[in-house]
Amino acid sequence: MTTHFSSTFPLPDPSDPLTGGFWSHAQQRVLALPRCQACGAWCWYPRATCVACSGPWRWTPVGGHGRIFTFTIVHKAFLPAFADDIPFATGLVVLDDAEGIRLATRFSNIDLAAIEMDMPVTVRFEELRFAGVDGSMLAPVFEPRP
Ligand SMILES: [Zn+2]
Repeated sequence: MTTHFSSTFPLPDPSDPLTGGFWSHAQQRVLALPRCQACGAWCWYPRATCVACSGPWRWTPVGGHGRIFTFTIVHKAFLPAFADDIPFATGLVVLDDAEGIRLATRFSNIDLAAIEMDMPVTVRFEELRFAGVDGSMLAPVFEPRP
C-alpha cells in the first residue's frame, strides 16, 4: 500500500471542516476549542456535534494555562520531516478552564530531564516548520509556567 501525503504534510490542513477552526484561531495566537452551545461541554477532538447532547458547538477561546497529564520524549524521527526536531517532548495537557479536555501538544522551552506529570504549563505559539516541507504555520505548544 502506498500512502500519498500533500506537499505540505505534516503541516495541519486549515481547510479541514472539523479542525480548521483550531488552526485559524492559532494563526491569531488564540487557543480555541469547541464548546457546546446547548450544554456547555467541551468537545475535543471535534466531531460534527456535541458528544454529550448532540448540540451545536462553537470555537471558544480558552486561557491557555494547564498541567501536563502525560508525556513522552521522542528520540526517533518516524517521518523524515521530524529529523531536525528530535529529541522533543510531546504529550497531553489538561487545561484549567476546559474541563474534560486532554489536548495533544508538543512541549517547548522545557528541560527534557526535568519534565514531569502535573507540571504547570502555559500555551505559547511557535512557527511550525518541517525539514523538506514548504511553508509554516503558527501552532500552540506548551512551556513551563514561571
Ligand atoms: Zn452538549
